[in-house]
Amino acid sequence: MKKAYKISVFVLIVAILITSIFGYQNYQKYTKTRPINVNGILVNKELVACKSYEVTHSFLNGVIQRKRNFIDSKEIMQQITVKGNKLIIETDAEVTIKDTKFQKEIFKGTTEALKDFVFTKQGTYMVKAQRNYNDKYGKGIVHYEFLAEITESLEIHLSNEKPKQGELVKLEVLGTFPNSKVAVKGDFLPSHSFYNKDGIMELYIPITYYKPAQSYDMKLQVNDTIYPFTLDVQKEKFTQLHFTVSESVTNSTVNSDAANIEYKNKIHPLYKTMDSNKYWVNYFIKPIQETRISSAFGQERYVNNATTPTRHSGIDYAAPEGTEVVATNNGKVEFAEFVQLTGNTIVIDHGLGVKSYHFHLSSINVKAGDIVKQGQLIGKVGTTGFSTGPHLHFQMSIQNQPINPELMYQIKF
Ligand SMILES: [Zn+2]
Repeated sequence: MKKAYKISVFVLIVAILITSIFGYQNYQKYTKTRPINVNGILVNKELVACKSYEVTHSFLNGVIQRKRNFIDSKEIMQQITVKGNKLIIETDAEVTIKDTKFQKEIFKGTTEALKDFVFTKQGTYMVKAQRNYNDKYGKGIVHYEFLAEITESLEIHLSNEKPKQGELVKLEVLGTFPNSKVAVKGDFLPSHSFYNKDGIMELYIPITYYKPAQSYDMKLQVNDTIYPFTLDVQKEKFTQLHFTVSESVTNSTVNSDAANIEYKNKIHPLYKTMDSNKYWVNYFIKPIQETRISSAFGQERYVNNATTPTRHSGIDYAAPEGTEVVATNNGKVEFAEFVQLTGNTIVIDHGLGVKSYHFHLSSINVKAGDIVKQGQLIGKVGTTGFSTGPHLHFQMSIQNQPINPELMYQIKF
């Protein structure tokens, strides 16, 4: 028995040796380094920066059908792509992904489940895939191992590179990681941070009319990388208006300390508040049917022979008393009451710092806290407050930086 035991141990050792030698001979190493994706940083289709990453692929074949599996491995390589933060393997396999820095497994599952997996930060990852096969070439398991270097592959869209004074520019950044730090610096500062809309980072930049029409250098910063872009601001024609307002009106409004203090106490705090929900969708609509503009956006206005003008931060739509005023977009009513200076006043917060102001109304149909839908009746035209006749003063702003409502009606957000 003892001899037989010794023999069997010997046979076993020889068998292991033979297997490992043949296994070693059969071990076919296929290492290939090739860029599988080259991602440009696109600013409105103009390439300004470029990042590439590579996949190193080692193919290990244990047993049978070497040649066939070699081809198979090349095919596999062609089936691997990196799309943004996703790794796509277009074949059925069991996959595990390990973060090489922390030696931590971050994914285990089928290639089907891998479609829903998103890398949350850049780095080097060890990917192992295992596939069973059973066909005319034979039966076996193929193992694949490769290193995937995942980097941010950004795409940047600007709604307009040549915005007019008073326009609101939308900046979209695609392909960032969830924990990436994204910020914009430059002459035009958005006062809210990026809004994450289904993985797309959105930011709105108000082009204030106080800035001269010229080119402005802006910087988008994503983590430690800076991507410059330019805003080439176009001149908008602003008119001047000289008009008189009776003393009885000015005394109770612009020239009244009480009226100014009330405005400061009630309206000024609204400049700073912001609902982080985005209520607004698509286009903003004109809040009134009438189209006659009695005072345009940005107009320089000289009241009662004043030597210095005041800037008109909204649009005055002249309309008969009682004309319906509707919400320009979805939002939350933040303020709805009478104010000496601006008369019956409604302020709607549309979210992300975008607000609409409605002054001089004859009546108010909503109250603070109401959620309003685009097109919903909110009040009626009047001539309350600092006003010379029935009209709607309609103002839009983002964190108190006025934007031109007439341009807002044309831009799809
Ligand atoms: Zn006005």
